[in-house]
Amino acid sequence: MINQDRLLNTFLDLVKIDSPFGEEGEVARYAAGRLRGLGFEVHTDKMHNVYGYLPGVGEPILLNAHLDGVDPCRGIKPQVSADGVIRSDGNTILGADDRSGVAAILEAAHVVTGEKLDHLPIEIVFTVREERGLHGAKSLDYARIRAKQALAVDGGGPNNIFVIAAPSQNGIQAAIFGKAAHAGAAPEAGINAIRVVSEAIAQMPLGRLDDETTSNIGVIRGGTASNIVPDRVEITGEVRSHSERKLQQYTKQIIDEIEHAAAAAKAQTDIQVTRSYPAFRLRKSSTLVKRVAAATKALGEEAEFVVAGGGSDANIFNAHGIQTLIVSTGMMNVHTTEEYVSVADMMRCADILISVLTNGL
Ligand SMILES: [Zn+2]
Repeated sequence: MINQDRLLNTFLDLVKIDSPFGEEGEVARYAAGRLRGLGFEVHTDKMHNVYGYLPGVGEPILLNAHLDGVDPCRGIKPQVSADGVIRSDGNTILGADDRSGVAAILEAAHVVTGEKLDHLPIEIVFTVREERGLHGAKSLDYARIRAKQALAVDGGGPNNIFVIAAPSQNGIQAAIFGKAAHAGAAPEAGINAIRVVSEAIAQMPLGRLDDETTSNIGVIRGGTASNIVPDRVEITGEVRSHSERKLQQYTKQIIDEIEHAAAAAKAQTDIQVTRSYPAFRLRKSSTLVKRVAAATKALGEEAEFVVAGGGSDANIFNAHGIQTLIVSTGMMNVHTTEEYVSVADMMRCADILISVLTNGL
């Protein structure tokens, strides 16, 4: 049986350990220690990614969650309400993204080992540096990983909704070089890089472009003073799509607008496109989807499988040939100081994990 207090205390322990992006050492030691205590064979790599393995019967399954959080995430003071909802004190995020996933996985591992249930071989991977580029998942030692199926416990919303498809993303970084001049004395000698980039952005396809594609310019930086024609502006943006063709098409359109506006003003450009992560889409007929549907049904609930708009470690696992879908912990309003999660939802999440680990043997 799931132990509500143990699960809650695990979660509270986890969020009280500061673990901003790139500083996951302490929380990784905590999670690794807990897995060792349950009899897992544990390995931690240089980046502090944690790998755990527990032998079982059948094909191994991997459970994943990430250890890092987004700012503001130092000194989190979790508050538990009478109805079992956990929030921060309002000054920081809560860190349910994704330590509610870590807590649910640890609880599932506790139950399976403590009650000596028959189970699949369990592989657990807690990744670091997920939030800004999935760096932990990208740098894992995949030779070490045995599972071909995985559950990334990093979703929000109702526990019976599972994400089986996510888009790919291109990151776009562009620098536009104009020419500096005195804005009062000799404006005609200058090339205004801010104007060039403004004209380009005004023409770009941005926002929700169709039912499977979005794009955004999220950062603009440039200029030095009101009396200087600015000679340099940098912008950062992205395109996401479930369609590879549209991803490339809109990325190209955005680049073309920058080059077009720059050429018209005789400005120079330096544009870089980086592939942040590839898309994935699991078939409803795949073994993993069927397995999760059956495990959810065994708990008396009907699983729903949906398409999501974000990138996560699941994109990277899928790209490495590990079929991965995303399980919800019930976390809400993530990446804000209003983030919350309920103990009841984390318990349901742990129940689903246990059901997957112990059913269909
Ligand atoms: Zn997350």
